[in-house]
Amino acid sequence: MSTVLDPPEDLLASLRRSEFRPSRSKGQHFLNDTSIARRIIESAGVTKDTAVLEIGPGAGALTRHLVTLAGGVTAVEIDSRLAGVLQEAYGRYDRLTIVNGDVLDLDLSDLMGNYGKTGFVLVANLPYGITGPVLDRLIAHRGKISCAVIMVQHEVGGRLTAHPGTKAYGAITAIMAYHYRVESLFRVGGDRFVPRPAVDSVVLRLTPHERPPVTVRDAGLLNVVIKSAFQHRRKMLHHAMNRLVPGSAGYLSDHTGIDLKRRGETLDLNEFALLADALRAFRDQHQDDC
Ligand code: SAM
Repeated sequence: MSTVLDPPEDLLASLRRSEFRPSRSKGQHFLNDTSIARRIIESAGVTKDTAVLEIGPGAGALTRHLVTLAGGVTAVEIDSRLAGVLQEAYGRYDRLTIVNGDVLDLDLSDLMGNYGKTGFVLVANLPYGITGPVLDRLIAHRGKISCAVIMVQHEVGGRLTAHPGTKAYGAITAIMAYHYRVESLFRVGGDRFVPRPAVDSVVLRLTPHERPPVTVRDAGLLNVVIKSAFQHRRKMLHHAMNRLVPGSAGYLSDHTGIDLKRRGETLDLNEFALLADALRAFRDQHQDDC
């Protein structure tokens, strides 16, 4: 593979001319549009004070802007061929650290180390296969992230921003809404990538709430209630609640005013919080039987 120089479109071009074959299982669809790359980075509000974590830098479509704009960039790339090429192309930037590894095997906070008081910014054109686990990590590291701008499959973006009662609304919608404000910024057509993926993408901005939008005594139980309600999304809620805590459904309906003949998919976050608090009270009262 020849030495690759700026502009980084050349990096992609050089990869295409070389023996390099993109890996489908690693979700290697490289962004080939500089204006979209810039919009993504602008949306993250990156400045010289920002510590950025980039997942999957690939051929550097985002990285090359980040290295000139951010205070520091840690870019984690699973593919050793790409990590090597990036090192060759951008190794001269002191503020860039390229880590060759699977981001799912790494502890994000350890990785980011000195991210300061404001937290770090996560930027990624995510490989489709790891979107779910990355969202889990966003939740787990919520207190250390100031904002995340991620490109995901259009359908996933629809799920994360869906309203109750719609087909796209699911457990992940309500769970993410508890932790983050999720904004859908703009759609990106498949023709903006090399090789072209089968579906369009969307860029999302996730900003952690300073305080959760609903107050709940036990956030872990809220999670469990939401997941249970969607496990059998076509069934009435009282099935799910009785399955979760036997005998609780009548109490829950009396103490929340929520009709448990409804399906879980119609409840908003506030209603899930009411259910979680009432379930906690029910459990406290029936500790010996539960
Ligand atoms: N950021 C580049 C862009 O916008 O053109 C590449 C995006 S491409 C959709 C996803 C990148 O993530 C690929 O370079 C792939 O090798 C890398 N990748 C896939 N799974 C990964 C993982 N588990 N950890 C780190 N990088 C991963």
